[in-house]
Amino acid sequence: MMHISQLKDTARIGPLDRLEVEKYYLPLLEQQASFDQAMNDSFTELGLADKPSILVKDYFVSLINGVYQNNYYSVQYQQTLHWLKAGLSFKQCLLLLTQMQQQFIRYADHLNSDALAKSLLHVVGLGQSIVTTVYSVAESIERMKARSNHEIRRIRNSYCSTSLEVSQTLIDAYINHQKWKMSAFELALEGQTESENYQSSHLDCKLANWLDEEGLQLIPEAQKQYFLEAHERVHRLANLAIEEAMQNRHENIIELLMEMEMASEDVMDVLLDLIEKQFVEEANTDSLTGFLNRRAFDFEFDKALAFAKRHDFWLDLVVIDVDHFKPINDQYGHQQGDTVLKKLADIFTQVARTEDMIFRWGGEEFVVITLDKEPEGSEMLAERLRKAVEKETFVFPDGAALKLTISCGALSYWAGLTLPEKTVFELADEQLYLAKQNGRNQISHRVYDVVPVNPGE
Ligand code: GH3
Ligand code: MG
Ligand code: MG
Repeated sequence: MMHISQLKDTARIGPLDRLEVEKYYLPLLEQQASFDQAMNDSFTELGLADKPSILVKDYFVSLINGVYQNNYYSVQYQQTLHWLKAGLSFKQCLLLLTQMQQQFIRYADHLNSDALAKSLLHVVGLGQSIVTTVYSVAESIERMKARSNHEIRRIRNSYCSTSLEVSQTLIDAYINHQKWKMSAFELALEGQTESENYQSSHLDCKLANWLDEEGLQLIPEAQKQYFLEAHERVHRLANLAIEEAMQNRHENIIELLMEMEMASEDVMDVLLDLIEKQFVEEANTDSLTGFLNRRAFDFEFDKALAFAKRHDFWLDLVVIDVDHFKPINDQYGHQQGDTVLKKLADIFTQVARTEDMIFRWGGEEFVVITLDKEPEGSEMLAERLRKAVEKETFVFPDGAALKLTISCGALSYWAGLTLPEKTVFELADEQLYLAKQNGRNQISHRVYDVVPVNPGE
C-alpha cells in the first residue's frame, strides 16, 4: 500500500506546475461558485443528494492556490475522509474527481492555457492518489475489524460449545484490546481525542488492569518483557497517530497506524497463546476432582513410558474402582455421590507422591501412573491407597456415616519391553478384575518383566 508521504514523489507536481497554477490564482478563484455548482450537480446525478454537504471548507482554494504542501494534503485527506464517512464508494469518489478534472479543463480553456490544463490535471491526479490510499487503508481497517470480530466469535464459540471454563477475564482482555485498537484507528483517522474505549496510557487501559490483577502471572516468564514492550509500543504509536491527526499532519498517520497494528499483533499472539493453553488444560482436566482425565492419559502414558525406558525405571499402573458405589448414588443421590468422589480424590492426592499422575478414568474409576526403581512399587502404592480409604469415614449432611472401600489392580511393567499401550493397561485392569473377584477391598498385583511363553496365562 502506498503511504501519503510517498505520494508527493509519484504524482509529479513539479515547480512549473505550481507556478502555472499560482499565476492563474485570481481568475480561477472567480470560478468558485461555478465549481461548487458543478460538483453539487454531479453529487445529485450520483444519487447522493441526501448526503451531507459535499465539499469541505477551503477545498477549492487548496486546489488552486499552487501551494501543494502539508495544507493541501490535509485538506484533500479530510475531503476524502468526508466522502468515506458520507458512504461514498471508491468509484463514486473517482467520478467526482473526473468531474473536477472536466471543470478544470474548461477553466483552462477559458483562460486559453494548455500549460494550466496540464498542471491542474496533475493536481487532480495527486487527489486521486490520496483517495486511493485512504480508501485502501479504510478497506484494510475493515478487513482487520472483520478478522478481529471473527477471531472473537471463534473464541466465544469454542468457549460456549465445549462448556469449558476458560477464564472469561482472559478472553475479555483480548477483546478489550481489540476494541481499544479499533477506537485508536477511528480517532487517528478522524482527528478526535475522545472515545469511551480509548485510554492513552498503557498503564491505565483495560489490558493494563488485567495485567495488574492476574494477567502478568499467566504470561510465560520468557515472553513477559517482549509482551510489555509491544503493549507500550502500541500505545505510543496510537498516541502519536492521534496527535498527528489533531495537528492536521496527515502524511504520517497511516504509517504510524500500520506500525501500531504490527505491535498489536505481537500483543494479540501472546494472548491467543494463553487462551489456547487454557483450552487445552481445561479439555484435559476433570472438573470434579481436578485430576487429568482420560483424554490426557494416552499422551502422559507415552511420555512416562519413554522416560522409564531411557532411565531404566519400572512403569507402575494402579487401576482403582470404588466398591459398591452404585448403592451410594441410589440412596443419597448423585450429587452426594459426587461429594464422596471428591473426598476420595482428596485422599488419593494426600497418599500419592507429587510426581505420581492421577487420572479420573470415568465415574468412580481412577488410574495412577508412576515410575519406580523396584518392582514392588505399584503394589505398595495400591495398598497405601486402599488402606487410606478403608480407615476414612464419610459423613453426609444428614449426619449419616459411611465406610467405603476400593479395589485396585496394580501392575509393575518393565519399560524395556514393547507392548502396546492398550495391552499394558489391560494387564492392570485384569488385576482389578481379580481383586473384585476375590472379594473386593483388596489389591491384586502383577510384575510383568518377561514376555510369557503363552500370553494368555
Ligand atoms: P463394584 O464396582 O464394586 O462392582 O460396584 P459398583 O456399584 O461400583 O459398580 P459399577 O462400577 O458398575 O457402578 C459404578 C456406579 O458409579 C454407577 C453410577 O451410578 C456411578 N457413577 C458413575 N459415574 C458417576 C459420577 O460421575 N458421579 C456419581 N455420583 N456417580 C457415578
Ligand atoms: Mg466401575
Ligand atoms: Mg465400582
